[in-house]
Amino acid sequence: MTDAHPAGRCWCPVCTAAAGLLLLDRGRPDMASRLMRGLPDAIGEALDEVYARGLDAGRKAAAKAKPARPEPPSGGSARPAFKHQAAELIEHVDRLGLTKAAELLGVRPGDMAGLLAGTVQAPGSGMERLRKAAANDIQF
Ligand SMILES: [Zn+2]
Repeated sequence: MTDAHPAGRCWCPVCTAAAGLLLLDRGRPDMASRLMRGLPDAIGEALDEVYARGLDAGRKAAAKAKPARPEPPSGGSARPAFKHQAAELIEHVDRLGLTKAAELLGVRPGDMAGLLAGTVQAPGSGMERLRKAAANDIQF
């Protein structure tokens, strides 16, 4: 037995239902009926009480919760800020290959991930070299 249902007389809906079932098992339906008559209302009240307690606890927890995190400082996010440039770079990489594109850009191949994701801006002079190479590239 938990603290909520002390041994002996406890008139909560759980203990009342258990006592009612025991009376039915022992062939005392009239007593069981009298005992369990108020059970539906008692269960309803208990559910309302539990709901109200849960609501109250939820509101207290929400009030105690930490405020939302502030926005990261400008430049500190990993969101693609250079989407258009990244799309152009992907075309160059498709045509030239990653290593050649990185070489023309003047960066290491390992630096290409951020450039292709659009989170890092490519050097302007490197972009000019890439565009020149693309313009001079004759397709067969
Ligand atoms: Zn009880």
